[in-house]
Amino acid sequence: MSKILHRSTRADLPTAAGGCGIELFDADGKAYIDASGGAAVSCIGHGHPEMLAALHAQLDKLAYAHTGFFTTEVAERLADRLVADSPRGIDYVYLVSGGSEAMEAALKMARQYFVEKGENRRKHIIARRQSYHGNTLGALAAGGNEWRRAQFRPLLIETHHIAPCYAYRDRLPAESQHQYGERVANQLETKILELGPDDVIGFVAETVVGATAGAVPPVDGYFKKIREICDRYGILLILDEVMCGMGRTGTLHAFEQEGIVPDIMAIAKGLGGGYQPIGAVLLGRHIYDAFASGTGFFQHGHTYMGHPMAAAAGLAVQDIIRRHCLLDNVVRMGELLDQRLRERFGSHNHVGDIRGRGLFRAIEIVEERSSKSPFAPASKLNVAVKREAMARGLMVYPMGGTIDGVRGDHVLLAPPFIIDAGQLDTIVERLGDALDAAI
Ligand code: PLP
Repeated sequence: MSKILHRSTRADLPTAAGGCGIELFDADGKAYIDASGGAAVSCIGHGHPEMLAALHAQLDKLAYAHTGFFTTEVAERLADRLVADSPRGIDYVYLVSGGSEAMEAALKMARQYFVEKGENRRKHIIARRQSYHGNTLGALAAGGNEWRRAQFRPLLIETHHIAPCYAYRDRLPAESQHQYGERVANQLETKILELGPDDVIGFVAETVVGATAGAVPPVDGYFKKIREICDRYGILLILDEVMCGMGRTGTLHAFEQEGIVPDIMAIAKGLGGGYQPIGAVLLGRHIYDAFASGTGFFQHGHTYMGHPMAAAAGLAVQDIIRRHCLLDNVVRMGELLDQRLRERFGSHNHVGDIRGRGLFRAIEIVEERSSKSPFAPASKLNVAVKREAMARGLMVYPMGGTIDGVRGDHVLLAPPFIIDAGQLDTIVERLGDALDAAI
């Protein structure tokens, strides 16, 4: 009997014993195609020889130095690289150990920014109902996923949630995509005015929504409008690209496709590609300057922040992506995956929507395509899809969630950036078989 408190005490998990390229192997030697990259983590695949060499080299040099005493060459190089490869407006990097830590730090950084400027009364965070920002208490408070929040609500700071940008279900028939985007973005202004503009810290959103709803991209113009509203009222735009960032949608940051730049953003998952736990907050010069000209001290910090082994992994991921032109492959294979999903599920009665960007794609599962009616929660479709997929040697990320009273079952795909066309065909074929067996 396992002595680990696993995520579920009822799950009967196979033992992962090895990994190579896009596959993981269990202790019996069965292979699983990692079509979800775990949870959108494994961007360069498993057992990458160049990564192993980089980690060995760093371990030979230095495994750990506390950031209260030292900086390290490898952490400085990673920060330089991230800033150099980001659009103007991203100027500094704060290194942590994962996505929740990054979001937690981002929220505190936003609050302290205003404290440094003498605007102590700012206290409200506005976020969206369709969101997940992490499982630590601050990040959980910002998220809108009630399934994750419900039992902890007494411990959560008050956060104000507005509607998501979820065109598949919420766009009115008479509205263009653009009109729809403006309408939902305007909810931010309404909320700011309701709370009092001088009391609001910022607006938090995933650029492309991940696990809560399955690769939901914003409609054209939505984030431009959001940025405009944030600027009008002097509040911060905080983007969570923990899942959708670091190349997953075909550009280093998903926001690059929206024509905006956030004030603060969180990244993780694909930053270390699963080889080390790492996350980061990226921030603009104005945020840094407020700290530098104020107390000069960010009232935060973790023992493992800026860990040299994690920074080495982050740097190696960026080197490998560049050396092998993997962002081009994300774009090419992403389009092919979209095409293959449409061929297989485009007229499937239980698939209501096919969406996403780059190698971040999802299908939304419905009881009936034309009415978009969801399956009842008791159907536990996500559990059945995962079971059937694993039986077929396929890892996908199915989730069920209720947003604004509507249940949205979906299956998320986020394969490694090294994937090829033949492997995509196998993924779609196995997913189709698993879905048909599960329903
Ligand atoms: N933000 C988003 C958008 C995520 O998808 C996740 C994890 O799935 C997190 C934050 C939390 O990241 P972590 O699990 O690394 O703490």
